[in-house]
Amino acid sequence: MEDERRRYLAQQAELGGNEIILGRPRGEPRPPIMPTERSPASTTPLPGGEAKWKKGAPPIPGPGMAVFSPTPVLLGNDLGALPTLDAVAERIRTTYCCELCPSRTNAVPGEGNPHADLVLVGEGPGATEDATGRPFVGQAGQLLDTILDAIEVPRSSVYITNIVKCRPPQNRKPLPDEIAACMPYLHRQLELLQPKVIVAMGGTAGEAMLGVRKSLGDLRGKVHTYNGIPLVVTYHPAALLRNPNWKKPTWDDVRIARQLLDR
Ligand code: URA
Repeated sequence: MEDERRRYLAQQAELGGNEIILGRPRGEPRPPIMPTERSPASTTPLPGGEAKWKKGAPPIPGPGMAVFSPTPVLLGNDLGALPTLDAVAERIRTTYCCELCPSRTNAVPGEGNPHADLVLVGEGPGATEDATGRPFVGQAGQLLDTILDAIEVPRSSVYITNIVKCRPPQNRKPLPDEIAACMPYLHRQLELLQPKVIVAMGGTAGEAMLGVRKSLGDLRGKVHTYNGIPLVVTYHPAALLRNPNWKKPTWDDVRIARQLLDR
């Protein structure tokens, strides 16, 4: 119990908050994915009936932009004909679509629950992701896991992917033509997933998904829609590692997304 309490406090310190969030006890296995069903996030109500993450959460903000994605056509191939996420992943792994592809160790198509209610979109793979072919498994991924734990959304229930599926050299930001070449994959993934909520992590993901050039400050604090699906923009976990002051606004953003899941 002492150990558990220490973990809760560490989690709060990590998120920059002043509340205690009770999550899944250490050592307790993540709930299994039910592959044929949606995996709604579970909440642990406080004695008063309110979920812990909800205490002090900001209200759901008003609407932002509404965007509609183009039909996913890439290099003359109709991605719309790919019937499953696995088929999209296979196409990504076996195709070169831009200058980033030849230097990859592994493409990183994305992974998670094919029936996810929540889809998280990052910028592009880093070194660990390139080495493993899996998204968000490095340091930023560990922080993302903590954030998901705090809103009581098991990582196994979500789908995680990136704007570009191959690592940019030296982790630089992907260039506009690299983003344009790779976006059709994300469009098709989202078309297949049909999640309830999308969270774009970082300015690159927010701008690419909304098709605008705006600051993160302009993109945050609104509920945009992407093909009718609510889209929340927040800080990238790697940015939080560099600047812990952004943890509190991120905590607010993810609690907005969490409330949208419950709607
Ligand atoms: N940063 C990203 O944007 N994506 C990853 O998969 C890992 C780190």
